[in-house]
Amino acid sequence: MASSSLKKGKRTTATKPGVAANTLSAKLARLDLRDDWDFALHLPIRYEDETRLTRIADAQAGVPCQLEAEIVHNEITYRPRRQLVVQAKDGADTIYLRFLNFYGSQVKQLAPGKRVRLFGEVRPGFFGAEMVHPRYHMVSEGEPVPEALTPVYSTTAGLSQVQLRRLIDRSLAQLENKHQLDDALPAAVRKKVALADFTPSMLTLHRPPPDASLTSLAERTHPAWRRIKFDELLAQQLAMKKARAARDAKTAPKLITKNKLTDTFNKSLPFKLTGAQLRAWNEIAIDLAAPHPMQRLLQGDVGSGKTVVAALAAAQAIDNGYQAALMAPTEILAEQHYRKLSALLVPLGVAVTWLTGSLKAKEKRAAIEDIAAGTTQLAIGTHALFQESVTFAKLGLAIIDEQHRFGVGQRLALREKGKTGNNTAEPHQLMMSATPIPRTLSMSYFADLDVSVIDEMPPGRTTIVTKLVSESRRDEIVARVRSACEQGAQVYWVCPLIEESETLQLKTAVETLDSLTEALPGLNVGLVHGRMKTAEKQEVMARFLANDIQLLVATTVIEVGVDVANATLMVIEHAERMGLAQLHQLRGRVGRGAKQSTCVLLYQNPLGETARARLKVIFETTDGFEIARQDLLIRGPGEHLGARQSGAPLLRFADIERDVDLLEAARDAATWMLKHTPQNAETHLARWLGSRQHYLKT
Ligand code: ADP
Ligand code: MG
Repeated sequence: MASSSLKKGKRTTATKPGVAANTLSAKLARLDLRDDWDFALHLPIRYEDETRLTRIADAQAGVPCQLEAEIVHNEITYRPRRQLVVQAKDGADTIYLRFLNFYGSQVKQLAPGKRVRLFGEVRPGFFGAEMVHPRYHMVSEGEPVPEALTPVYSTTAGLSQVQLRRLIDRSLAQLENKHQLDDALPAAVRKKVALADFTPSMLTLHRPPPDASLTSLAERTHPAWRRIKFDELLAQQLAMKKARAARDAKTAPKLITKNKLTDTFNKSLPFKLTGAQLRAWNEIAIDLAAPHPMQRLLQGDVGSGKTVVAALAAAQAIDNGYQAALMAPTEILAEQHYRKLSALLVPLGVAVTWLTGSLKAKEKRAAIEDIAAGTTQLAIGTHALFQESVTFAKLGLAIIDEQHRFGVGQRLALREKGKTGNNTAEPHQLMMSATPIPRTLSMSYFADLDVSVIDEMPPGRTTIVTKLVSESRRDEIVARVRSACEQGAQVYWVCPLIEESETLQLKTAVETLDSLTEALPGLNVGLVHGRMKTAEKQEVMARFLANDIQLLVATTVIEVGVDVANATLMVIEHAERMGLAQLHQLRGRVGRGAKQSTCVLLYQNPLGETARARLKVIFETTDGFEIARQDLLIRGPGEHLGARQSGAPLLRFADIERDVDLLEAARDAATWMLKHTPQNAETHLARWLGSRQHYLKT
């Protein structure tokens, strides 16, 4: 969520010198609070029950409660460190309050004889019952307790709950006066989804009445919460649908089916396309022929054969006199695409250009010139493809492999490449990913993408056998590697992921190489890692492909896309440290040929709960879709969205898994509203996105 990442103070330090970073408006900006609607929709993160007073004697340790007491003494002590200790009494019982950070004004305020209302947890202390840093305010005798639950808002340093509450109250009042708090949903929608009315829902959440159920408020199952969550999901759906409409209004070159290069290419393949590949290809071909930019995700499990489908799409662009670009996230992968696709396409007369950052200056210049002159028909490379110095003469199609590895910015930059001179058309975009998007995500954050699924593996593949083996049995596994290699197979050995330090990771990889070379005399053992120079990497991979290396020790750089059919055994060390998607991708490096393949997951005990859950999933299923679904359940949607930073701000209140019924209802309502009550749709969007429009720019 935006506010939490901003809370780390980045904004403050980034402020120009001389500009007061800690003014009220700077603090509010940190919370994304600008206009009245921002305040109104800044809903409490929880509630506290201050409607009751507890006696000191009845307070239970660790349970938040409210006390009222009269101050009898206060003093600043210096041991063990400077602190303000206040002694207060409620009848015969005494409570000590300790403040480690305090202002001089607080010492005066908490003077003997004054009454104070305290909110916090009581715990046994050195002198007796104590509260450390309680929330408090001064009261006079007999002052009534509030009738409503007290809302607690997320806030930032230096902005108190009281201040924030006052600002929110002011915004709510202003909106109410201007009749802007009125319901923006047509009655038909409210009725169909059985939703509570808007204004009372808002007021209930900000100022819950005394009889409101604290549990249903806390768990966000209260009808008022349901209403707000629906509204939030609706705003997301409306925004997505509008973005979609905007895309459909843009122009793109019509790349129609000509059956020239596409046909020759298809016929030149050493295999027949699977039914699923054909289906996906048809969907793409139709999109390409349309006069507005395609944005389609080609999703298919690891090894399902996405690359040929992408190559067919490129061929269709070329058939129409346009260029195509294929971008991959790593050099290894880009190089492999280049090698495979040039082998298939160059004999058919296609000009293929290779461009990555590691090319020598002279080669790079030549590649860039060819791309700009239009001599290049298919450009393959890494993100170097969309650096500023690269201009395409006539880009018709941008293909992005392993799209989840790229940020939105990088993808947009490539799309912009299609706009040359006074040509405003955008290229079509085809993204590829082995990571399926769970249904709830494709209904929400990814609703603007069209998806083609390859749900069938090329024939002759055998399923991969997965074994979970404790690290203590490493010797057995090394013996197994030896016998596999002796039988002519090849093996990947994946080194542990060390997130904290790339250097340490490298060190471990080198040590693994040494120990395996020693343990397996007579075998050729190679090493590939992320810090190697491209040429070195390429050489190692070429030797592995030629079976000149039998055992390839690798860091997770081989996670995506590498394709060596003779490799039938993979050992993954410290599998418990890796995420599900990563394990699935890694495992997909084997099982690429007709021979039975095995993936051994070495793990180190003791296993944490999440690690155990992940290993269980990866052990039990090879179905990428099921794995992604489980991943979403274990981790929440954040990871899926990390690189994507979807076109809408992350949901603040709704949870797409828990609130899937509301999500479905919101999707239907968005379609209905745009058609029948577009004005309501606009009003609704303005409320929710108002000053957050900048999130939509992507
Ligand atoms: P991924 O979907 O993981 O990117 P690839 O496109 O790399 O998969 O394809 C995996 C392997 O399967 C490649 O060696 C490719 O040549 C082969 N392949 C693709 N389609 C077929 C098919 N219809 N029949 C047989 N082999 C195929
Ligand atoms: Mg691939």
